[in-house]
Amino acid sequence: MTATAKQTTILQTQNLHKTYRTGGEDLHILQGVDMNVKSGEWLAILGASGSGKSTLLHLLGGLDRPSQGNVTYTQQNIYQLSRSAINQYRNHEVGFVFQFYHLLPELSALENVTIAGMISGNKQASSAKRKERAQMLLDQLGMSHRLRHRPNKLSGGERQRVAIARALLNEPKVLLADEPTGNLDADTGQQILDLFINLHKQGQTIVMVTHDQHVADLADRQLVLERGKLKS
Ligand code: ADP
Ligand code: MG
Repeated sequence: MTATAKQTTILQTQNLHKTYRTGGEDLHILQGVDMNVKSGEWLAILGASGSGKSTLLHLLGGLDRPSQGNVTYTQQNIYQLSRSAINQYRNHEVGFVFQFYHLLPELSALENVTIAGMISGNKQASSAKRKERAQMLLDQLGMSHRLRHRPNKLSGGERQRVAIARALLNEPKVLLADEPTGNLDADTGQQILDLFINLHKQGQTIVMVTHDQHVADLADRQLVLERGKLKS
């Protein structure tokens, strides 16, 4: 990756606010978040539990709507896109990895990965191609011996590998990870972090939220979410 490419802003927020209304009370979780993600960088967002990390990541991924402010991806405000364009954004431009994997229990590891391609409705990609890529990803992630296993027959670390493969299936420009090692023991967590380190070396843009300073230290840059705002 060239230095110039690294400096291009790919994802940005401007004055982002999110307020939840519960029981007649307003919870101002995000209170004017400004941030930008450069192409090829690994950005960590640190914050205590309840500080709004997941809320922010969901907004970045087009999974929720801000109360105020914008999320811009390659100069486009994603919350002004048509329904089909925002679906395209969610399914192709970004990939999600969650703390609790969110795999479908009735599907095998392989099917849990290929389904990302089916949901995205990418008509060009044949199901054979999808399967081939899913197998390749699972192989790279050390899971080729577990293709037919259902999630409940997999360890936590193995489930997260499947979830990472699913997130990568459609070759997202930005990988959004929500405490991906938060539910794993230290050794297994480190193996998952090693996968992120490798992806980053290959040029993958990553935004990872975490409450763990050790995890954040792996990133190129860290921001801290505190009282609804981001600080460097
Ligand atoms: P974090 O990921 O940093 O732990 P979250 O973004 O999940 O924090 O949540 C931030 C705060 O917003 C928490 O107090 C949480 O209870 C509240 N919250 C999150 N989602 C909702 C929701 N859909 N409705 C009401 N409150 C919510
Ligand atoms: Mg969270």
